[in-house]
Amino acid sequence: MGDQNRKIVVTGNWKMYKTNDEAVEFVRALIPQVAELPEQIQVQLAVPFTAIQSVSEVALGSSIIIGAQNMHDVTEGAFTGEIGAKMLREAGARFVLLGHSERRQIFHESSSFINKKVKRALDEGLQPILCVGETLSEREAEKTQEVIASQLQESLMGLTAPQAEKLVLAYEPVWAIGTDKIATPVEAQEAHLICRKEIEALFGEAVASQIIIQYGGSVQAKYVQELLQQTDIDGFLVGRASLGLESFIGIIQAASVGLHAGNSNSH
Ligand code: PEP
Repeated sequence: MGDQNRKIVVTGNWKMYKTNDEAVEFVRALIPQVAELPEQIQVQLAVPFTAIQSVSEVALGSSIIIGAQNMHDVTEGAFTGEIGAKMLREAGARFVLLGHSERRQIFHESSSFINKKVKRALDEGLQPILCVGETLSEREAEKTQEVIASQLQESLMGLTAPQAEKLVLAYEPVWAIGTDKIATPVEAQEAHLICRKEIEALFGEAVASQIIIQYGGSVQAKYVQELLQQTDIDGFLVGRASLGLESFIGIIQAASVGLHAGNSNSH
C-alpha cells in the first residue's frame, strides 16, 4: 500500500525492567539523540507503571512519547493490583500496549478481554498499540492468516471506523519474541499485509491505508532498513534492544537513514 503519509513509529517495550531512576537517566540521555530526527519518525517508550510520571515529566518538550504496557478493562473499582486508563493518562501515558503475547500467554488474556481494554483505552483517550501474532506451531500448521484475522476480529469487535483510526497495530510473531529468530522481510511483509487487509475488511480502505503496523520480534539495528523497505511495515516494537541506549539509538538512526534513502514508506 505504501502510503507516504504514514509515520515510522519506533516503540521501546521495557517490560519489567528499569527502576524509576534508571528510566529517568535513560530518557535524559535519549532526548538529545532524538532532537534532530525527521518529523516522520516517532520515538516512544512503554515504561513500567512506576516510571510513567517521572519519565513523562522529563520527556516534556521533547518528541518522545511515553506509554504503559498494560491496563485493566474498567476505569476504577475493587480490583487489587490492577491499574486503570484514567490513572495512566494522569501520570502522563499517551498510549498503552494491549494484547502483548506475554499477556496472552503468561496471564491468559483472551482476545475478548483485550477487546474490552481496547474500548476502555479509547474511551479514556489512550492510544492502544494492539499486538497480534502467531506461535511457531500455528505458523508450522499454516494457520498464520487465520490466527491474525481472528485476533484482530475479536480484539476490535464493535469498534467504529473513527475509533479504529486511532489504533496502532504491532505484528509480533511469538516465535520471534526474545529468541533472536527474526522474521524475514518477506515473512513480515506477508503478515503485515494480512493485518492491513483484515483492517480494510473490518473498517474500510481509508482506515487500512493510514493505520501504522509495527513489526516486533528480535529487532536490531542491522535488520531495520530491509524491513522498512517492505510496503506495509511502518516501524517497530522493540523489546531487548530498547533497554540499552546504544542499541535503541542504533535502531532509531537506522530507521532515519532508511527514510533519507527513500527506503521507507515514501515509495
Ligand atoms: C517484545 O516483547 O515486544 C519484543 C519484540 O521483544 P524482543 O525485541 O526482545 O524480541
